[in-house]
Amino acid sequence: MADIEFNCPECGQVLEAPEEMAGEAIACPACEATITIPGPEPEETLVLPNLPNVSIPSVPPEPEKNGCPECQAELADGAVLCVHCGYHLKLGKKISTEFD
Ligand SMILES: [Zn+2]
Ligand SMILES: [Zn+2]
Repeated sequence: MADIEFNCPECGQVLEAPEEMAGEAIACPACEATITIPGPEPEETLVLPNLPNVSIPSVPPEPEKNGCPECQAELADGAVLCVHCGYHLKLGKKISTEFD
């Protein structure tokens, strides 16, 4: 528990009192004036400057393109089979386009 250090307003005597006695009235041991023990130093609080509300322009989402997840080739709308690598979008895998 930290002690509060303060001065007697009457005689300037440096006094110390335990924190839990803050707010209590005591008699100054030097001049016998009645002093109220001040509270502990308030903690410094960081005051953040009020930032103006910057509205981030909402970017409309790009229309989803039908693309091959395998080779990133652009596919025609509704296409399920990549003509470039043979990846089947519905099956999620390459299908063999080779016929033996
Ligand atoms: Zn005093
Ligand atoms: Zn592909």
